[in-house]
Amino acid sequence: MNTKIYLSEPRLEYPLKILSSGDKNVLEFETSIEKYLGNNKHVAALNSGTSAIQLALVLAEVAYGDEVLCQSFTFSATANPIVYQGAKPIFIDSEKDTWNMCPFYLEKAILESISRGKKPKAIIFVHLYGMPARIDEISSIAKKYQIILIEDAAEALGSEYKGIKCGTFGDFGVFSFNNNKIITTFGGGALVCENETDKDRAVFLATQAREAAPHYQHSEIGYNYRMSNLLAGIGSEQMEVLDENVELRRGINQFYQEIFKEIEGVSVFREPTKEYHSNHWLSCITINEVTAGFTREALRLQLEKDNIESRPLWKPMHLQPVFNDCEYYGDKVCENLFINGLCLPSGSNLTEADRSRITNSIKKLL
Ligand SMILES: *Cc1c(COP(=O)(O)O)cnc(C)c1O
Repeated sequence: MNTKIYLSEPRLEYPLKILSSGDKNVLEFETSIEKYLGNNKHVAALNSGTSAIQLALVLAEVAYGDEVLCQSFTFSATANPIVYQGAKPIFIDSEKDTWNMCPFYLEKAILESISRGKKPKAIIFVHLYGMPARIDEISSIAKKYQIILIEDAAEALGSEYKGIKCGTFGDFGVFSFNNNKIITTFGGGALVCENETDKDRAVFLATQAREAAPHYQHSEIGYNYRMSNLLAGIGSEQMEVLDENVELRRGINQFYQEIFKEIEGVSVFREPTKEYHSNHWLSCITINEVTAGFTREALRLQLEKDNIESRPLWKPMHLQPVFNDCEYYGDKVCENLFINGLCLPSGSNLTEADRSRITNSIKKLL
């Protein structure tokens, strides 16, 4: 039989493997993530982590006027899709050990919503900087009140809790392959689903909700959220270095623990128990300026002077002007992390020379 003639195929003149046409690379990339995660998950490759969160909300049937509980201490991409759906975020504080969603305030917020006569439609929690959240407590609260659980694992590909990969605990899991994440497709994301039906629906919605017909037929509003085949080819190659990247980043965390071991008032963020295994996407410290004798900002400026990038931790969503009329349940844990915390250079390609420069810069302050 002749090879098929398509209506309009892209013209490809570069003999690169990743330039194969159709969706071959996308399907391969999805399979490689499914294999990596285990647990019989079904993965849809999308054009960003943000669109994965939005599709999770669509699949959870979050619509206009609904309430969604969301970790306050996070990047805005966690919360924005709630607003895209016309729903209302209710922000929840972090707890001290994992810096992630506090189960106590989560339950408090649920009970208050229920007493007002409206049960929240979904919960979005995050594994910030790669650190697994208090998964058991959060999962059992979601189960107890029968609320859909969305796990924002954008920063936590390769992290594990009790030996199980992050991204597989929620009703839906989310990954990002943005440029600065642990692996990159130069822009991309994935939605992890429990069953094939959800995955197929996600792919359907991500491809303009085009129905099976020879012509273009639509009964629903869709999205253009599918991952590009070209980028998926890069993704498959990146999956091969994922474990190596995790080890490198965990090594960097070790490096900072060595530097700050003897320095009073500075603590390097690390796993609270052996059940937690962080990919240490970014290594972070908190500074107690009274015992350390210098502020977070002093260290940041010193590093900046030496041309070394560092950044305050995420500014909580409930402190952002755009969300200032949203409800918040908490006790200032994430506010304090924002004031006292700093992310340090953590790239998988940090060299020995880079490390000496960082060490010297920090020592100038002591
Ligand atoms: C990066 C990130 C996202 C969004 O991913 P994109 O691919 O950039 O859309 C979502 N949540 C968190 C916590 C992130 O760090």
